[in-house]
Amino acid sequence: MSPSFTRPETIALHAGYRADPTTGAVAVPIYQTTSFQFRDTEHAENLFALKEFGNIYTRIMNPTTAVLEERITALEGGVGGLALASGQAATTFAIQNIAGVGDNIVSSTDLYGGTWNLFANTLKTMGIEVRFVDPADPQAFARATDDRTRAYYAETLPNPKLHAFPIREVAEIGNQIGVPLIVDNTAAPIICKPLQHGAHIVMYSTTKYIGGHGTSIGGLLVDGGTFDWEKHAERFPMLNQPDPSYHGAIWTQAVKPLGPIAYIIKARVTLLRDLGAAMSPFNAFLFIQGVESLPLRMERHCANAAAVAQYLNKHSAVTKVIHPSLWEGEERRRADAYLSGGYGGLVGFELAGGREAGRRFIDALELFYHVANIGDARSLAIHPATTTHSQLSPEDQLATGVTEGYVRLSIGIEHVDDIIADLEQALAKAAG
Ligand code: PLP
Repeated sequence: MSPSFTRPETIALHAGYRADPTTGAVAVPIYQTTSFQFRDTEHAENLFALKEFGNIYTRIMNPTTAVLEERITALEGGVGGLALASGQAATTFAIQNIAGVGDNIVSSTDLYGGTWNLFANTLKTMGIEVRFVDPADPQAFARATDDRTRAYYAETLPNPKLHAFPIREVAEIGNQIGVPLIVDNTAAPIICKPLQHGAHIVMYSTTKYIGGHGTSIGGLLVDGGTFDWEKHAERFPMLNQPDPSYHGAIWTQAVKPLGPIAYIIKARVTLLRDLGAAMSPFNAFLFIQGVESLPLRMERHCANAAAVAQYLNKHSAVTKVIHPSLWEGEERRRADAYLSGGYGGLVGFELAGGREAGRRFIDALELFYHVANIGDARSLAIHPATTTHSQLSPEDQLATGVTEGYVRLSIGIEHVDDIIADLEQALAKAAG
């Protein structure tokens, strides 16, 4: 990559695509096609045998989707990416790619509610145990590990607590024991590069900041290429033993000449082939539009959220404000170590009037949308205890940091004066 392509603002606009070779189109074309014509039988045979890379069928790869994959991989500094139909599909694939019946993973307790459900219930039905540990103590990951542990999993900036995850500390434990760290960086694109801090795989719900306009559901995995799957061959039989679903290919050997991409290639050519959770080319196009302005939007999200946190912190009806700019001690050290250029666009707070005041506040909002989403260019608000986290037991809700009176704000890129004016009038109404 040329030196002019090293900065996120430039990568977001140029990586993975320059101009369409056929038409010269500068915007990435939407290749809305299911299948691709082979040049001849030898070409077809080579593609299927992975002797040559190329398009076969859009369930497995597509040129529009490939631009999105390359662009985000370049932003993260990884070796390969895989776009999927949703963030949930990306998390599921990230684990199923290396874990099966009888295996386990160790996960942070601080998770999106949907991921918690996937881990606590659905993966269990697939024979994969998830051991939850408190990320405040990185050594808890080591203590929960045994010889069937296949991955560590965490979110960079999990809401509602908004405590930055100790990526380097846990990645180093993983390097010693031979367990890769998978990080969900959905809430912190651009401001955190998990691979640079030692994480091995990055996962995104592109539905949020990457799309940025609330139009499409999508997910993405980026392989850092830094985990030595061969060295830990006993722990990772799926990557080191012949795969009966692909003419007995041993993934760490089969793609070695192409680079350290065994993990991400296997996910594409076996899991995506078999489970089919592909991103549509049209959604990939919309995500590419989002990526182009992502660095700029993140700057504004972060600046607005920090101003809102300051405002709420001084308000008499607010008992607690949750935002990394307000942390002290170890939490502040971690926020500063892992986030740069801002502390993200999410802000939480608790109202003195508890659950009822929370409801009145949400109903009084005029600019903010009341939706189950984050990362939109528009400002959003929700009451997690009765919505996103309602399927969790009260104990599990508390373990993830959701209290009765907690309100979550996803601060948009509107003018900050208008955002604060809406909060001001809604807080006045909430106080009754
Ligand atoms: N990870 C995080 C942090 C999320 O907030 C979400 C969705 O809210 C997901 C994963 C799941 O993503 P999706 O809704 O795209 O399946």
